[in-house]
Amino acid sequence: MAGFNVRSVLVTGANRGIGLGLVKQFLGKSDPPERVFATCRDPEGERVQELKTLASRHPNLAIVALEATNPASIKAAAARVEEHLKSSGLNLLINNAGIVRLSTLESETPEDMSLVYATNVTGPLLVSQAFLPLLKKAAQGSPQPGMSCSKAAIVNISSEGGSITNVFAWQLGQVVSYRCSKAALNMLTKCQSLGYGGDGILSIAVHPGWVQTDMGSSTSLQAPLTVDMSVRGILNVLPKLSKKDNGAFMSWEGKVLPW
Ligand code: NDP
Repeated sequence: MAGFNVRSVLVTGANRGIGLGLVKQFLGKSDPPERVFATCRDPEGERVQELKTLASRHPNLAIVALEATNPASIKAAAARVEEHLKSSGLNLLINNAGIVRLSTLESETPEDMSLVYATNVTGPLLVSQAFLPLLKKAAQGSPQPGMSCSKAAIVNISSEGGSITNVFAWQLGQVVSYRCSKAALNMLTKCQSLGYGGDGILSIAVHPGWVQTDMGSSTSLQAPLTVDMSVRGILNVLPKLSKKDNGAFMSWEGKVLPW
């Protein structure tokens, strides 16, 4: 992670799993960001204890409420972050919050199709829209040429489960709504790369690997990666990204994945 001098970063769904791991490793850097924003649905809830403990030790960490399916909550989060940042912009937005619903083609329901799409696709769209002015400000205020994750970037945490070319682990779980949502998130990433590239904002979809989190442990098999391994990989890949990677779909190991 050497040379990854990101000044401000926001991670959604940061109270557990990969999101929490990202926050921990950003804070643990030898040159941590000046501002780390960890969002969660309910900052007063039971599942936020670890974040609260971190915040008591790291004054550069702010916990912000953000429910990805609620446009008003997203707008309020953006306003809160803007207050913290004062005149500077947000360098790195990581759309990590996501859900899976165990399903097959036969059992999939309209309710779950809608909820998973709202969380995994519409959420990152609305979050990116709300934080766009802060990302633009970071891009405009940066002396760095080109594109990078330390200048201004949107990282959408996707999944190989959304790949149409390499259908991953079908026998382990059909999870139709989840696969459809991540394929759509990949398309959203491509659209963002085309729409925001002119503003100097890099957009990328990242597959974190199969990770030992609540989500990653929802099948009968043990996921091979710890949160720590996945996040170390992601934070090794992000600093290496440049304009040529804008709109790509990549793994936690830095491999370009087929759509
Ligand atoms: P977890 O289930 O462990 O954590 C999910 C996080 O997202 C929680 O913080 C959860 O908050 C939050 N979240 C869920 N819904 C919402 C919402 N509507 N608004 C705001 N926050 C929400 O999942 P992982 O850490 O494993 O997954 C993180 C990302 O990585 C996801 O996008 C997932 O699809 C992706 N991924 C994970 C893989 C794995 O093997 N684990 C594999 C491939 C991709 P709360 O605690 O309130 O529920």
